Amino acid sequence: MSHQDELQKKALELDKKDKLAHFREQFEIGEEIYLDGNSLGRLPKKTVGLISEITQIQWGKRLIRSWNEHWMELPSKVAAKIAQVVGAQADEIFVGDSTSINFYKLAFAALKFQETKTRIITDSLNFPTDIYVLQGLIEQQFKNHSLTIIQSADEQRISDEAISNALDNETALLTLSHVVFKSAYMYDMHKINHLAHQNGALVLWDLSHSAGAVEVNLNESGADLAVGCTYKYLNGGPGAPAFLYVRKDLQEKLHNPIWGWFSHQKPFDFTLNYEAKADIQRFSAGTPSVLSLAAIASGIDISLEAGMKNLREKSVSQTNYLIELIENLLTPIGFTIASPTNSNERGSHISIQHPEGYRINRAMIEPTNDSPVIIPDFRPPNNIRLGIAPLYNTFEEIFRTIIRIKTIVETREFERFGGERLEVV
Ligand SMILES: *Cc1c(COP(=O)(O)O)cnc(C)c1O
Repeated sequence: MSHQDELQKKALELDKKDKLAHFREQFEIGEEIYLDGNSLGRLPKKTVGLISEITQIQWGKRLIRSWNEHWMELPSKVAAKIAQVVGAQADEIFVGDSTSINFYKLAFAALKFQETKTRIITDSLNFPTDIYVLQGLIEQQFKNHSLTIIQSADEQRISDEAISNALDNETALLTLSHVVFKSAYMYDMHKINHLAHQNGALVLWDLSHSAGAVEVNLNESGADLAVGCTYKYLNGGPGAPAFLYVRKDLQEKLHNPIWGWFSHQKPFDFTLNYEAKADIQRFSAGTPSVLSLAAIASGIDISLEAGMKNLREKSVSQTNYLIELIENLLTPIGFTIASPTNSNERGSHISIQHPEGYRINRAMIEPTNDSPVIIPDFRPPNNIRLGIAPLYNTFEEIFRTIIRIKTIVETREFERFGGERLEVV
């Protein structure tokens, strides 16, 4: 048996042993191989009926009465589910708005609270929206603050020592993506929180690539603040509301910069003086997005049913297998792995690099022969990101993907494409 055949056999055996395999049936699955659950999770079948019911009955028939009957309590219900995914208490999570907006609210609140300190620290691997928001805050509100962006030498990781060296007692806020979006490098949350706290700094985590992908325990790791997405590994649907976390004892000390009526103690008294709620709901702003919130609930239920520990185990097994395939079949033809090979240091995707990365990515998505459509995503300058969503990806899909990439390179099929970029890559 050839080495390639052995690797294929291994995929079939791992799929057969997979205790989570049946969860795939809960999603709409087409002909394509989808390795982009880290950007937009698949559609859970249950969501279709649920949205249709809410639209037709709650909105269509019950109209405004549905606010009291169902909708007012929906954000807290969804928050309680998210709390289970990220190891927090239900009353420490607010769900609503986008990740960018929640990041703005919490960064603003933290900087106000730490008034006497003027340094903000982040790293060059962070997602750009977070860095832009920080730049905007300095320009508009915190003019004496400085932003330190710790540079990564290899574009993959930042050492704990580099974080430790950057922190000092002038540091108001350290903010990082827990799992970074290009390389999937994962910080040791517990350790970083401890380092920051020794310097009196608060830490704001972005969990967008962690929630639903890796085990997160905000409470146990001593986390102060966090934000994250629900439309990636939690399968909440395009643009689904994001969440934020504020540790219980910090809630009364931190103030939402957006004094919207939903954060008021009595929004329906319509008084003209603002009084903030005392609990986590003080971080809300306006009317909740009911349809999207309902979709998040049915998405997260699947992750909770599978269990985060089981999901993480399968994800590690799948990314380990993926790395084995890459090392055997793609490294010899010019690819490099741009993610940590130690599973303790990475999330649920693997980035591979090739000088022709963009055109190879295009050929995977738009084959002209009868090869399968494979959807990864591309991150400049030359990263192909292979996102593994253990709820619905199979080992066999991973095998077929690597064989397909090998063929595209060996037959130079990518040469059909020019270098011009599509808007959403
Ligand atoms: C996807 C992602 C976001 C997205 O923010 P939006 O406001 O929802 O567009 C933010 N941060 C990180 C780390 C992400 O991966």
